[in-house]
Amino acid sequence: MDMEKQLNELTGKMFGKTIAACTDAQLYQGVMQFTKALLSDRPVNTGSKKIYYLSMEFLIGKLLSNNLINLGIYEELESVLRKYGKKLSDMEELEPEPSLGNGGLGRLAACFLDSIATLGLPGDGVGLNYHYGLFRQVFQERLQKAEKNEWIEENSWLTDTGVAFEVAFGKGKVTSVLYDIDVIGYGSGHNKLHLFDLQSVDEGLVEKGICFDKKAVMKNLTLFLYPDDSDVEGNLLRIYQEYFLCSNAAQLIVKELKEKGCDLSHMEQYAAVQINDTHPAFVIPELIRILTWEEGYTMEDAVNIVSRTCAYTNHTILAEALEKWPLSYIQEAVPQIVPIIKELDARVAKQYKDPKVRIIDDEKRVHMAHIAIHYGYSVNGVAAIHTEILKNSELNAFYRIYPDKFNNKTNGITFRRWLLSCNRELSKLLTDVIGDGYQRNAGELEKLLEKKEELWVLDAIDGVKRKKKEDLADFIRRTEGISLDADAVFDIQAKRLHEYKRQQMNALYIIHKYLEIKEGRRPARPMAFIFGAKAAPAYVIAQDIIHLLLVLSEIVNHDPEVSPYMKVVMVENYNVSYAEKLIPACDVSEQISLASKEASGTGNMKFMLNGAVTLGTRDGANVEIRQLVGDDNIYIFGQDSEAVIAHYAKGDYRAGDYYENNPVIHRAVDFLISDKAVRVGSEEHLRRLHRELVEKDWFMTLLDLEEYIGVKDRMFADYEDRLKWKKMMLVNIARAGYFSSDRTIEEYNRDIWKLR
Ligand SMILES: *Cc1c(COP(=O)(O)O)cnc(C)c1O
Repeated sequence: MDMEKQLNELTGKMFGKTIAACTDAQLYQGVMQFTKALLSDRPVNTGSKKIYYLSMEFLIGKLLSNNLINLGIYEELESVLRKYGKKLSDMEELEPEPSLGNGGLGRLAACFLDSIATLGLPGDGVGLNYHYGLFRQVFQERLQKAEKNEWIEENSWLTDTGVAFEVAFGKGKVTSVLYDIDVIGYGSGHNKLHLFDLQSVDEGLVEKGICFDKKAVMKNLTLFLYPDDSDVEGNLLRIYQEYFLCSNAAQLIVKELKEKGCDLSHMEQYAAVQINDTHPAFVIPELIRILTWEEGYTMEDAVNIVSRTCAYTNHTILAEALEKWPLSYIQEAVPQIVPIIKELDARVAKQYKDPKVRIIDDEKRVHMAHIAIHYGYSVNGVAAIHTEILKNSELNAFYRIYPDKFNNKTNGITFRRWLLSCNRELSKLLTDVIGDGYQRNAGELEKLLEKKEELWVLDAIDGVKRKKKEDLADFIRRTEGISLDADAVFDIQAKRLHEYKRQQMNALYIIHKYLEIKEGRRPARPMAFIFGAKAAPAYVIAQDIIHLLLVLSEIVNHDPEVSPYMKVVMVENYNVSYAEKLIPACDVSEQISLASKEASGTGNMKFMLNGAVTLGTRDGANVEIRQLVGDDNIYIFGQDSEAVIAHYAKGDYRAGDYYENNPVIHRAVDFLISDKAVRVGSEEHLRRLHRELVEKDWFMTLLDLEEYIGVKDRMFADYEDRLKWKKMMLVNIARAGYFSSDRTIEEYNRDIWKLR
């Protein structure tokens, strides 16, 4: 039946109106219902074995346009609506974003679900249905304020499944409810994202902003996503949340296997459980608990069964992000799991003398990663350099025990969202130039290399970039009230705010340029420095860095001597939807983390795929980007991971030396406490940041600053060689195929899950 008729019938039923008479909000509801019905018609992926991807975060972003693309009906629906003078993009704007994650880790989980479905593999995500996603960021007096971020509306992508489990805590039992979101593959494929919620959740507990009564655990469990990225707060509620996820997941897995008539003693033949960082590692003792207490297995058998089924992905080597829970907290929250953890630790103690590999340490803290490594069959890092660091330093003691468990799976991104959906202009151009094969087989992007000398192709790619820059400039003018010149170089750093990612180094470059322009040294072309970043509310220095960026924005954009040549924008509320606008418009992708600290990065891949050139350190997947595009198509600077690790080992890095001995650095750093800065900003924040940079600088900003300034200047000069730059854009797009999450998932399946 034709789409126009169906949609008219649906809006008739829902609102008693034709398409033409509906408001945009009504039409959005109609289009969503229409899409949901098509999703549920798709046959679900089946097979003898299924992957359960467990994650505390799924940063899925808006779903409408992605679902329409994956269903293959985006264009058709767009033209139906156009007939009635309606724009699909207006409906997309009305969709609330499900921000059920903090950053890269949660976004990775979402990309993986898309690829698992697309590749036809049976595999579901299992997570939590937070009522409020990652906080909405607003700026007040140049400081970040966090507001609660509601995303669940009366009509949403969630489907109530009717499935419910009981989860026991020390305080008593709670009942869960399971909601599903359909995950639709590109062209074919259908899986589920299972989101568990607490039946008794009470939204009335929310106080101001994102504050709420943390003690009313039985009513607040799924109220909020924890807003910390790469950091853990030693909070009891977090243990409750993690166990709630894991107990529900374990019960779901056992239920599904039993319904299929599977023999639980061969669980690994029917299920693989991927643990996304240590947050869901309680699934290991919980499955063992169920097998022993409820299914009658011996401890020995249960441990072996679970160890053959669970696999662990490590996402970070940052000490502050490695979960170590006081045993007393676990005892209070979930006492029934403690004897199992003690048993698992006793088995380790019996076999290995090294105290470093114990699960419970001398201070009675439980190391979640150690549970996952001893009692899982695979440990993977997320980029080549990251896995090497795990093997050779961070997890070396474990690598020596279990060399065969360790493997690398370089992260990837789904090209459906990060190219086909966010940059329809570029994907259409690519289809015109190399055919549409790249949409299923990302490696075909390499065909573009044959066109490197064809001027019309180079100009067309540059034309798309120009169009996307105009679109972004327009959006930023409307939302942030700052006007950007689309002729400027768009230099973008968009990612969580963290000292190791070194937004502060970028800020010091901006200060340096500002001071140069004040001296009359003007750049060949205007520069637009654009940031997007949320900071964990409890992370003081990160708040100070946001403050600095907002102060710089104010000073630079309002200085008539400087603003014609440069602008600084800190966009409000960076999230997936904003990323989809920023990334296609980017010329220079800032990936400047301190070497060894960024496990992989996935933002770097999204920018590259959209024709940005990377300015980066030898960290995470930047290393692999460099290998793919070659030194001529990337700007690399800074000390390498070995040098950085050696600095930490020797404790010989002194920020003060760089500050004292280099006048350029000195001048830029001191600008933070200059009259000009303090007049616009808060002296308290700026002084604290200044002191941090000069006296501590744990993530070695000043170590790489001089080289960063030099390489960045050279890069801006190269931008003026337009032909050269366009070729760099082309090479970056052409070589990005490796970073399709389809490739990553094929590797997970080949080496770890072994489905089909
Ligand atoms: C991709 C993505 C990230 C991860 O970015 P990195 O640069 O890899 O840290 C974070 N947040 C959002 C919204 C993203 O889309």
